[in-house]
Amino acid sequence: PRQEAKCLIQEKDIRFLEVIGKGAFGSVRSAEWITVDNEKIFVAVKCIRRTTGNGITDIQNEVVKEASAMSCLNHPNLIRLFGVLISTPMMLVTELAPLGTLLKRLRQERHKFQISILSSFLVQISAGMKYLERNKIVHRDLAARNILLVSYEKIKIGDFGLARPLDDDVEHYVMHPDGLIPFAWCAPECLKYKRFSHASDVWAFGITAYEIFTYGAEPWAGLNGGQILEKIEEPNNERLSCPEHCPREIYSTLYACCWNYREGERSNFQNLEKRLLETLPIEVRAITN
Ligand code: ATP
Repeated sequence: PRQEAKCLIQEKDIRFLEVIGKGAFGSVRSAEWITVDNEKIFVAVKCIRRTTGNGITDIQNEVVKEASAMSCLNHPNLIRLFGVLISTPMMLVTELAPLGTLLKRLRQERHKFQISILSSFLVQISAGMKYLERNKIVHRDLAARNILLVSYEKIKIGDFGLARPLDDDVEHYVMHPDGLIPFAWCAPECLKYKRFSHASDVWAFGITAYEIFTYGAEPWAGLNGGQILEKIEEPNNERLSCPEHCPREIYSTLYACCWNYREGERSNFQNLEKRLLETLPIEVRAITN
């Protein structure tokens, strides 16, 4: 159909520049893309999965279908998916975030991020997540490693949608072929039943906020999935503690909205964004628009 063809990008229209990262299925490269309107856009290009031979297989058809749906999503706090590059292996062409991942920048350049900016990142992430929630898309891998920085004040959420495995019975594995499941970001129902939903994204948001206010500390460091579950379940009912640099008001919001054991009683992103926005000073609120 026409809609799907729209998101197909030809190799001749892409000029690769440099390697900017390492993805699960190969390196991620920056590139110049000449659009059908003859516009030049800087993009990030990454392999989706190992695909052999020529021509479009069933799996590839699935990817193209999904990509065409994703390419309709457009929000200032989401990395835009432009389309799929028809090549072997197939590649995704997305918006480029010149400063790379938030996690890396927080760890390497913590002095560049004032507390009020960290707070505004939470509002920006919740705004992007609210948009995904409205569009019924579950991210499943919200974490600081998947938040990208376009400037020292603006973030965009990456790796959504297509991160979803194509088979319904596999969850995180496809995203992490090295066998590592990101347990520390998982809500209890994900750890126990692999049940992912908007509510489990809200839990992961709380963990991401912890990473942000600790300038990239590893949540639940050194613990495996079973040990984390034991901590967060009754009778222990433990949660990550308030990071030194996190304003109390924000921590209380995260605690109340994100980390309810019962998924049905967690807040949604709409409410979370509203509550977080109220904690921001007026001049910082402007950045989030
Ligand atoms: P995984 O599925 O395990 O997350 P992946 O194959 O999806 O891996 P990414 O994690 O998305 O790959 O990307 C790997 C690295 O490439 C990132 O850590 C980041 O440094 C860089 N990168 C990815 N996308 C972009 C982008 N849009 N702009 C700038 N850098 C990017």
